[in-house]
Amino acid sequence: MITTDILIIGAGPTGLFAVFEAGLLKLKCHIIDALAQPGGQCSELYPKKPIYDIPGFPEVLAGDLVDNLMKQIEPFQPGFTLGERAETIERQEDGSFIVTTNKGTKHHAKVVAIAGGLGSFEPRKPIIDCLEKYEDKGLAYMIKDPEDYRGKRVVIAGGGDSALDWSIFLADVASEVTLVHRREEFRGALDSVEKVEELVEQDKIRLVTPAEILDINGEGKVESVLLQHNDEAKRMEVIECDAFIPLFGLAPKLGPIADWGLEIEKNAIKVDNTLDYQTNVPGIYAIGDVNTYPGKLKLILCGFHEATLMCQSAYQRIFPDKRYVMKYTTVGGVNGFDGSRK
Ligand code: FAD
Repeated sequence: MITTDILIIGAGPTGLFAVFEAGLLKLKCHIIDALAQPGGQCSELYPKKPIYDIPGFPEVLAGDLVDNLMKQIEPFQPGFTLGERAETIERQEDGSFIVTTNKGTKHHAKVVAIAGGLGSFEPRKPIIDCLEKYEDKGLAYMIKDPEDYRGKRVVIAGGGDSALDWSIFLADVASEVTLVHRREEFRGALDSVEKVEELVEQDKIRLVTPAEILDINGEGKVESVLLQHNDEAKRMEVIECDAFIPLFGLAPKLGPIADWGLEIEKNAIKVDNTLDYQTNVPGIYAIGDVNTYPGKLKLILCGFHEATLMCQSAYQRIFPDKRYVMKYTTVGGVNGFDGSRK
């Protein structure tokens, strides 16, 4: 039995930062993650994608952000159960919890913080016949290493942040980038839309909107895609390319957590955002992408904020008789933590 103060389910950026905030309060953390490595979506889906909205970092690769978070929590020596999925939770008489993984590892904690992100995720695929024939042969639903596309002709489809950010990044890597979206307007950040427009003016990106990719052609690998312009004439065009990357987002699946008796809305866990991100079960919190409340934004910086408030509340729950006075980390360290890496 692994025993800790806060058991964190999910080693994404939110779960990792929670370890730091808990450490400042001298609370021990243990993290479970179904994936073999920490970092959540950042490591699994887009390690080489730049992120532009982490405060203090004009640009940081998702993988580097995870490395930095791991360095930041090193002094607090969290425990890890990696490659195992949290499967069941049992509430004990004293209000603590036992969480058991699919491999039978048991964890005992006074507080459970679910930072499960999207749970187990599957990319949304376009409706095109025989997609499987081209998967990993030029067709990809996520970019793991942009170097795979160096000097290649790439067609990206989608209208969200991912499609925009990757088009911007690949404009300097690929020999040709065509961005196709079925609407005129994009769902992604305004700044990214403006960057794409700049690159279109510089002939570094070809933007085709409104349009859709209807088919893929090629002998054993992607050689071209068939595009339909969504204008009155419904004009068809063949675009020769080496890679087709539809970035339509992820279909979220909460997994076993959905059966833990927590209030769920639209595949996410409802929390009290007026106070501490606690769920309807006292002692179980939900932070980061996994939770929902009015105005929720699925952003890394929002997860950091939620993790911070969760830790303050967890401290009160674990030590109901102690009064905690918040101090800045710069004021001679906090609770003995002086910022040094041991
Ligand atoms: P996640 O990163 O999803 O991590 C959750 C972890 O929980 C996963 O590792 C999962 O394996 C684990 N888990 C789930 N259920 C269980 C279980 N039962 N047992 C064990 N482990 C479990 N955000 C930004 O702020 N800026 C950006 O530029 C940006 N770009 C993005 C680009 C793409 C392509 C994508 C997909 C997302 C992007 N995001 C961006 C969103 C950002 O990645 C998420 O907001 C962030 O990862 C959420 O962190 P998290 O720790 O809450 O969850």
